[in-house]
Amino acid sequence: QVKSISVSDYGTGNIIGVLLVIHDVTKIKALENMRSEFVANVSHELKTPLTSIKGFAETLKYVEDKETRDKFLDIIYVESERLSRLINDILTLSELENKDYAINFQKVCLNECITEVYYIMERISLEKNIRLSIDSCEEQLYIYGDRDKFKQMIINLVDNAIKYTPQNGEVYLKLEKYNNNARIEVRDTGIGISKKHLPRLFERFYRVDKARSRSMGGTGLGLAIVKHIVLMFKGDIYVDSEVNKGTTFTIILPLFENK
Ligand code: ADP
Repeated sequence: QVKSISVSDYGTGNIIGVLLVIHDVTKIKALENMRSEFVANVSHELKTPLTSIKGFAETLKYVEDKETRDKFLDIIYVESERLSRLINDILTLSELENKDYAINFQKVCLNECITEVYYIMERISLEKNIRLSIDSCEEQLYIYGDRDKFKQMIINLVDNAIKYTPQNGEVYLKLEKYNNNARIEVRDTGIGISKKHLPRLFERFYRVDKARSRSMGGTGLGLAIVKHIVLMFKGDIYVDSEVNKGTTFTIILPLFENK
């Protein structure tokens, strides 16, 4: 954006020059575009389950056959579950963007947290016949931050690992000290992700296979939330994957020195 202002001589009032003010709005515009794209995506994502809930609920009145009614009711239930997951994820993202998180910051023991995550996720992995194993280090590792958000970050990764790994596969959760950082690895023997998708994986609503993600009940926001939380902890996240072999997500977090 360029604005020109004429500069006049104080005594005579004659114009003696022109001042050009150049304002770089590229970043602001890009941010605005991102926001409106996000709003459009959110609306679309919310509308899809709503349309199907409305449609099936309306048709239900005219269906007499019990089997068909039960099928419709199942769809309505599954779609409302998706809707509520979606709303929760959207709220989490906006909370992560707006809230002053320092309020909930505390010294967090990672060994305790990942063991808790392991017990939460073990039941889900067993239902799918997937072996979930944990490898935690002897030394207690601490970070400074929000405990619940740390757990949510690991839950999202383990949940994906289970979702995108076929039956009889394996998922590993590992915690170790690496230089002066904590290193957390979530590895699976699942379907993998081809290299071309990796750069966009942490974008909101980005899915490698939309139909597969939907059928698994995904919202497309899990990894965007993970990335936000990693940044909140001033850490880094890496992904390495091979199609039909498996995927590894690695998180590096700075340790809390003052134990
Ligand atoms: P979703 O709700 O679709 O799972 P996420 O943001 O959690 O959304 O993940 C984005 C996409 O990344 C997924 O749709 C899936 O295609 C891919 N993905 C994430 N984790 C894995 C994994 N462990 N194995 C294979 N693909 C994965």
